[in-house]
Amino acid sequence: MRLNDFDPDDLRVRDQRGGGGRLPIGGGKLGIGTIVIALIGYFVFGVDPMQMIGNLQQVEQSGPAAEQQGGATVAESCNVDALSKEACNALASLNATWQPIFSAAGARFEQPILNFYAQNGSSGCGAAQSAMGPFYCPTDNGIYIDTDFYREMEQKLGAGGDFARMYVMAHEYGHHIQTLTGVSDKVRAAQSRNPDAANPISVRLELQADCYAGVWAARNRDRIEPGDIEEGMTAAHAIGDDTLMKNAGQRPVEAAFTHGTSEQRMTWLRKGLETGDVDQCDTFANPRA
Ligand SMILES: [Zn+2]
Repeated sequence: MRLNDFDPDDLRVRDQRGGGGRLPIGGGKLGIGTIVIALIGYFVFGVDPMQMIGNLQQVEQSGPAAEQQGGATVAESCNVDALSKEACNALASLNATWQPIFSAAGARFEQPILNFYAQNGSSGCGAAQSAMGPFYCPTDNGIYIDTDFYREMEQKLGAGGDFARMYVMAHEYGHHIQTLTGVSDKVRAAQSRNPDAANPISVRLELQADCYAGVWAARNRDRIEPGDIEEGMTAAHAIGDDTLMKNAGQRPVEAAFTHGTSEQRMTWLRKGLETGDVDQCDTFANPRA
């Protein structure tokens, strides 16, 4: 996907990598080499709401997470390497796409904050670890990314390419949209009322974020290059719960799905891509799709 270069004055970015470099924070006990596919599968693409509730309790006990700026400017953080720059360009494009959608609806919009970290970091929702995959934290409106994850995604999940990586960002951004619209809060309330249905409800939330990722891409259709859509579909397939469980040597169990099957993830990403219409992303109205 050909995206414009970001404007550092128009992005919210934090960096925990230290001086814009790659110094890991913390003990590094979950290094890149030790990531287990099943674990990636469970957490990939972020917010598992039950997990989030656990993390929030953790935060209450340990006090607010550090919000250090890391000393690096937005431009420095975004220019650490090619993957950081690509993430910042994607963030700028996502901001430029979603802001007008909110304005048109007369709704308040706020940009999320892109947080770079290396291996171990902190977030308003508790510890950030590479093995969790990228995630969104509603407490601090933060998208958390260790760009090394993208290498894992390509090598271990077979999902490479710039559009696959941008789909990840756009999905996490989708969780930010759900936070602004109040859907995330409603989902958490529904889950605490009905814990037995927590997983199927989570699937609806995750598939909507996939659809929102597609909406973003659709609204930047002129920037899509040959092969991009295939990269996105390959990634959506690779991170389906059933595929991840199979690849981890487990029998897929639907009750354990939190993000949706490969088929479902491809279906909803495609729906966003084909329509570019947020109103088509009501996954809650289509509980079987
Ligand atoms: Zn997600």
